[in-house]
Amino acid sequence: MTKDGARTILADVMERFLGVACKRLPDDVYAKLRECAQGETSPLQRAVYESYFENLRLAQQLDRPCCQDTGLLHFYIRCGADFPYIGVVESALGQAVARATASAPLRPNAVDFFTERNTGDNTGERMPWLHWDILPEGNQLEICVYFAGAGCSLPGRAQVFKPSDGYGAVVRYVFDAVSGLALNACPPLIVGVGLGHNIENAGVLSKMACLRPLGSANPHPRGAKLERDLLAGLNSLGVGAQGLPGNRIAMEVHVESSARHTATIAAAVNVSCYTHRRGFITFREDMTYSQSSYKGVEL
Ligand code: SF4
Repeated sequence: MTKDGARTILADVMERFLGVACKRLPDDVYAKLRECAQGETSPLQRAVYESYFENLRLAQQLDRPCCQDTGLLHFYIRCGADFPYIGVVESALGQAVARATASAPLRPNAVDFFTERNTGDNTGERMPWLHWDILPEGNQLEICVYFAGAGCSLPGRAQVFKPSDGYGAVVRYVFDAVSGLALNACPPLIVGVGLGHNIENAGVLSKMACLRPLGSANPHPRGAKLERDLLAGLNSLGVGAQGLPGNRIAMEVHVESSARHTATIAAAVNVSCYTHRRGFITFREDMTYSQSSYKGVEL
C-alpha cells in the first residue's frame, strides 16, 4: 500500500470514529454511569440521572453529539516502531478532525492563540494535540481519542511539592481541585492523578490516568490503594451528579506515576465529566482496524 493510500484509509476511518465517539459513551463509561445512578436515592439525583440518560438516548436517536462542547481533539498514540505508515499519521488525523467538524458535526472550538480567530475546523497550531509513545517492538498503531471540553480542562492543575510537605499535601491538593472548579464539570467525574517529579510529566500522567479503561487499577498495590482511598474520600463529600447534593462525585479515581526526583513531589489533577468521550482504535500494518470501545458498532 502506498503512503497516500494509508493516509486516506486512516483519515476516513478516523473521521467516522470521531462521528461515533462524540455521540455515545464508551461501553465501560456507560456501565459505570448506570452503577453511579443506582448509588443515588434522592429525588434530585434521580432527576439529574434521568436527564443524563435521556440526553444520551436522544443523541443516538437524533444522531447528534451528546454534549454541545465537543472540545478539542487529543490523540494519545502508541505506535510500534515497525508500523509502516508512521509518517502519515499526523496529517491523516488533522484531515479527520477537519472533516468530522463538518460531518459529525463538531462545534468549532479551536481559536488561534494570538489573533483570537476561530479556525473553523478544530485544527490549528499543534491542534489536534498528539501525544506519542513509540514502542520499540510491534507493527500496530493504537490511538486513544479524547474530546477535551472546557468544563473538564478548567479544573486541571499541577504543582510541585517539597518532600517535607509529605504525601498528605498531594491528597489535600486532589481534594481541593475536585471540590473546587471540578464541581462545574458535570459530575460524576473520572479523576486522573499524575504523580512524578515536575509539572510536565505529572500533567501528562494525569491525563493518561483519565484515559485508562474504567475498572482498571494502578499496578502497584499502594497506587491501587491510593485510588480506592481517594475515591472513597471524594465520594464522602456529599456531592453528586451536577455538583448537587448526592453520594457520587466521582466514578473512579485513577493514579499514574513515574519515579520522582529525590527532592520533589509533583502532582497534577485532571478530570473528565459524565460524557467522558474517549475511544480506543487499533490499526494493523495492512491498515485493517478494530475498535474496542463500542460493542456492535461498525465503522
Ligand atoms: S463538563 Fe462535559 S458534559 Fe458538561 S458541558 Fe463540559 S463537556 Fe459537556
